[in-house]
Amino acid sequence: MTTTNNDARNCRVVIIGAGMAGILTAIKLREAGYEDFTIYEKTDRVGGTWRENTYPGIACDVPAHLYTYSFEPNPDWSSTYAPGPEIHAYFERVAEKYDVIRSIRFNEEVPHCEFVDGRWRLRTSTGREDVADFLIAATGVLHHPHVADIPGLDTFAGACFHSARWDHGIDLADKRIGVVGTGSTAIQIASALTAKVGRFDLFQRTAQWIMPIDNSPYSDADRAAFRNDPAKLAAVQQQVNDDFEIFSNAVINADSAEMKAVEDACLANLENNVPDPVLREKLRPNYRAGCKRLIFSADFYDAIQRPNAHVITTAIDRIEPAGVRLADGELRELDVLVMATGFRADSFIRPTTVIGRNGVNLDDVWADHPVAYLSISIPEIPNFFMLNGPNGPVGNFSLIQIAEYQVGYILQLMDKIRAGECRAISASREATEDFERRRSAAAKKSIWATGCKSWYLDKNGVPASWPWSRAQFFEEMSTPKIEAFDLAS
Ligand code: NAP
Repeated sequence: MTTTNNDARNCRVVIIGAGMAGILTAIKLREAGYEDFTIYEKTDRVGGTWRENTYPGIACDVPAHLYTYSFEPNPDWSSTYAPGPEIHAYFERVAEKYDVIRSIRFNEEVPHCEFVDGRWRLRTSTGREDVADFLIAATGVLHHPHVADIPGLDTFAGACFHSARWDHGIDLADKRIGVVGTGSTAIQIASALTAKVGRFDLFQRTAQWIMPIDNSPYSDADRAAFRNDPAKLAAVQQQVNDDFEIFSNAVINADSAEMKAVEDACLANLENNVPDPVLREKLRPNYRAGCKRLIFSADFYDAIQRPNAHVITTAIDRIEPAGVRLADGELRELDVLVMATGFRADSFIRPTTVIGRNGVNLDDVWADHPVAYLSISIPEIPNFFMLNGPNGPVGNFSLIQIAEYQVGYILQLMDKIRAGECRAISASREATEDFERRRSAAAKKSIWATGCKSWYLDKNGVPASWPWSRAQFFEEMSTPKIEAFDLAS
């Protein structure tokens, strides 16, 4: 059966979240002929994680020319790994250019949605009632800050905030700054700040492997060439894509030669660039590189070897008004304390209540841990789809690339309804259980399962990520296997 734009106009779609994936969904919906859609965005600006995270040094560790919508290349990226504000500006620009802004209701959260009589009924934080045929959660992966529960935290007399809530009102020059954590965020903060502050204390519970990268800026001539010669831009995109594919495929096989090469590069980085043996041993992890989210940095080792920088490996006992009291009794006096302690990685969509068919509540479905068929669809929750949902390739691909494939897949499912083949569609229980069984088994062979603690692991210790190749992901996303879905008329 053929479909027409007229059919599409009869379907109303609600998207939750105006970050990278929400903007993308709006663009692709309109392209497919859907005109009746609204994005509900809880804040007053687009950009998701790039709006929220503004800490010094923020950048994307996926090469910029890969972290770009395929349909909107950007010849003007300033360097291989673009800084956060540039990425945020890119999303704002794209949202303007594709006229997405007019479809966004800002400062309006969606706390409750329920599938009633074949349609989604929503209530927003302003009291608005909305009804839609499809609900698409583009709510991001890491957006609920995890503030480590350290005794005495609220007694600290100086400024104290989570890395995703950076207080730009504080002049850091000459101040004593403490950063708790050694994830990608803390490492970027350290790289950006040690040269600018009085003293920098990095409170490290677990050392990190650092993959060296070349983050040379693109010259004006490079950017002009990218602007004027599409072939040059396509070539740089292809290059970063191919380089990244090696990494993507390495991490899914802990025993691969490619993984060994990554580990060797990290080890050489540590051995060759940290001459002080005491500091070197402090910074040497006791697990395999890539087990935790690998950190890509051109300058962390240089930054942390400045005389005013200290890696504190003694455990934190408590926080006091004057600073951090260590387990050995030492007090590290501080003016500013930054909690770079990560995010609650399993809080997809929450705190939104999602109620599917027959009162099935997503919170109950996910009581153990979040599971979805191909990260996209959940049994008994029809006409509801997720972008960058649980157990997707968060650790190994560009999230933009993933989302583009997922939107293409979701649109094909929506077309079934638009074409009148059914009225409701959701993954079947059997397909979801089978997928999760196969996924978990394969994930245990990945580098993430080689014995470390990380946010990639679900509460059963299984890596919550796509454990197969990029080629397999693209293939799986190309056409839905319709037998994996329950179609209701
Ligand atoms: P994270 O990787 O979860 O790191 C949190 C850090 O806080 C860890 O070092 C952890 O120590 C430490 N920590 C937590 N609770 C603690 C406690 N009670 N006492 C002491 N230390 C504690 O968080 P993140 O650095 O914000 O990064 C999260 C993810 O965001 C990254 O993995 C990445 O996917 C994404 N990110 C990406 C970029 C990018 O460039 N694309 C940049 C920043 C972030 P343990 O290791 O011992 O648990």
